[in-house]
Amino acid sequence: MKTDTLFILDKLQGKIFEVITEEADRLQLDTYVIGGYVRDIFLRRPSKDIDVVCVGSGIQLAGAVAGNLGKKAHLSVFKNFGTAQVKYKDVEIEFVGARKESYNRNSRKPIVEDGTLDDDLNRRDFTINAMAIRLNKEGFGELIDPFNGLDDLDDLLIRTPLNPDITFSDDPLRMLRAIRFASQLGFFIVPKTFEAIERNKTRIEIISKERIVDELNKIILSPCPSVGFELLEQTGLLEIILPELVALKGIETKEGVGHKDNFSHTLKVLDNLARTSDNLWLRWAALFHDIGKPRSKRFDPKTGWTFHSHEFIGMKMLKDIFQRLKLPLNDKLKYVEKLVSLHMRPIILADEEVTDSAIRRLLFETGEEIDDLMQLCEADITSKNPEKVRQFLRNFKLVRSKLKEIEEKDRIRNFQPPIDGLEIMEMFNLPPGREVGELKSAIKDAILDGEIPNEYDAVYAFLMKLAEEKGLKHPSH
Ligand code: ATP
Ligand code: MG
Repeated sequence: MKTDTLFILDKLQGKIFEVITEEADRLQLDTYVIGGYVRDIFLRRPSKDIDVVCVGSGIQLAGAVAGNLGKKAHLSVFKNFGTAQVKYKDVEIEFVGARKESYNRNSRKPIVEDGTLDDDLNRRDFTINAMAIRLNKEGFGELIDPFNGLDDLDDLLIRTPLNPDITFSDDPLRMLRAIRFASQLGFFIVPKTFEAIERNKTRIEIISKERIVDELNKIILSPCPSVGFELLEQTGLLEIILPELVALKGIETKEGVGHKDNFSHTLKVLDNLARTSDNLWLRWAALFHDIGKPRSKRFDPKTGWTFHSHEFIGMKMLKDIFQRLKLPLNDKLKYVEKLVSLHMRPIILADEEVTDSAIRRLLFETGEEIDDLMQLCEADITSKNPEKVRQFLRNFKLVRSKLKEIEEKDRIRNFQPPIDGLEIMEMFNLPPGREVGELKSAIKDAILDGEIPNEYDAVYAFLMKLAEEKGLKHPSH
């Protein structure tokens, strides 16, 4: 890429950069915008996080800039880290003094000393992230690019500026960042850098689960997440972070019959879903939807390979995985569990006869998540046989239109029978217990099976008849 000075100058217009220039010159601090913001200028990705480095005190410069910007600017100082942040409108500017870092083996926290701009660029993770643009009036807009990051941007390459073994061993999080950038930007990791990740993979163990999940989320949210997961698998990182996914790999053959490779199938489903949804947790559900397959795999000489109940086995595996990765155990786990455990239902429905009763039960069990479940199931159709795919999509259309029709008619999605347990107890003077439960589920089944409508009078009449059969007395009769 040729540096186009006019192009850079155009991106550095506006009040914020004007003020930084003014204050940097007044304080006589060499000052640069650096890192991801510079990379994203050339990638034409709009960004609201600006990182500024000066040779000297970043906190001092931040204070001056905030003061100059006036009341609309908000300053936060992090003395322990030697950094400060200025928020102005919807933009966040991080200020830090140029620094030199050295690492010891047991931590990704470096020993930090003041340094030059070169020291500061040397500590950065990839060549495309190790560029700076000068902000002082003299030389404003000049690009400093010691590792030819601009060429690597052009060639779509992820490469460490220095020896990759040292870069990754110093801070193993960078291995995940490399893969995340490859996935997010559609870049390629150069062989030397890739091989260093393979060699240093076990170092990932010193990284906190929260940081790992942060990067996994970014991979999952990238336009084609399979890129990231293939790289995680190939480097050996996936075996350490999520061995349950690696267990999906491979094709076993018995009596000449093989099954599909469930790892590549899973990634295909995730990519399919990524085209229709940017819901992070729905994407996690896609990643885990077949996680129970290795444990449920059987070979039946008559029917071939089966994975009976893999959706329930998979659902049961999720809590451990979420706990281990420190993923949120609240409603997010419940949501993913629900989608994984129900992901076969619409397919079975589409395969057999689509009865009203089956649709009502699906709606009742799925509730608000029905649209997400249908999206997941459509993404799950990865057959190579176009006729099969067409047939599935046709049946799915039918399931969808039936779902709509029944939802409009019966409002099952947030289904609450019109007579609840408390009312039943009062009506028949019953203590809480098995009998009330039986009456409640009889009502639920009658509505879901379409024997009675979801309305008070009908449910009341049904209940009275049932009570009579059971010999229960209604006190008011
Ligand atoms: P994104 O904002 O999309 O996460 P980014 O590259 O801007 O990507 P930040 O965490 O905002 O990432 O970091 C800003 C810059 O700081 C990076 O571009 C890079 O130069 C440097 N950096 C961040 N994390 C590391 C790291 N672990 N090792 C070395 N340099 C890093
Ligand atoms: Mg950033």
